[in-house]
Amino acid sequence: MRIMLLGAPGSGKGTQAALLKERYGIAHISTGDILRSEVARGTDLGHKAEPFVKQGKLVPDDVMLGMIEARLAEPDAMRGWLLDGFPRTLVQVHGLVDVTERIGQKIDVGIILHVAPEIVVRRLSGRRNCANCKAVTNVGDAAAGGVCAKCGGPLVLRDDDEPETVRNRIQVFGRETQPVFELLRGRYDVIDIDAAQGQEQVADAIWKALSKYA
Ligand code: AMP
Repeated sequence: MRIMLLGAPGSGKGTQAALLKERYGIAHISTGDILRSEVARGTDLGHKAEPFVKQGKLVPDDVMLGMIEARLAEPDAMRGWLLDGFPRTLVQVHGLVDVTERIGQKIDVGIILHVAPEIVVRRLSGRRNCANCKAVTNVGDAAAGGVCAKCGGPLVLRDDDEPETVRNRIQVFGRETQPVFELLRGRYDVIDIDAAQGQEQVADAIWKALSKYA
């Protein structure tokens, strides 16, 4: 299976990606996770990406395309993959089409998680990441400063989940990423999912829709 999983920040991509990875045994390629890890390790790529990620802006397309091409060539990606958060611009769609054609891989389907901006703001303001095990939890403002239910580690707000950065990310999403959906619809099978529902309902809807591809 080769899947593109797309949606606004806070639409639940990471949560659903983890479930899909487990179910299909494919590589989970989250461009956001890769960039955060490069930034944390202080690599060249991390230095290039950091100012964009911090401000909630998109990292330039040439950087992203180089990163994806290298990642799709890794051995675990030969079993199939799930792209989480890529492509996010029209240039990235064209670049992905070129790369996959060149390496002889066919994309099966795109999944788009739809959620209204006011829900995005509410979800992201309550989202916390465990500083130890990286588990993501939603604590709501009242519980901010609590500890991770899995490992007891401290819960922290992602830099780019600060309210002003969230507003930027929503604007960038509308301007740069929404046009991507229309382009994908013309080229690939696309599954639209109402992601305002609970996680289990979203997972059920995705699995039902994917059953014809597995
Ligand atoms: P995410 O975890 O998917 O919300 O991504 C976090 C941040 O990483 C985004 O706000 C961007 O700064 C950057 N990023 C992730 N994926 C992409 C992409 N496909 N193109 C450009 N920037 C990206």
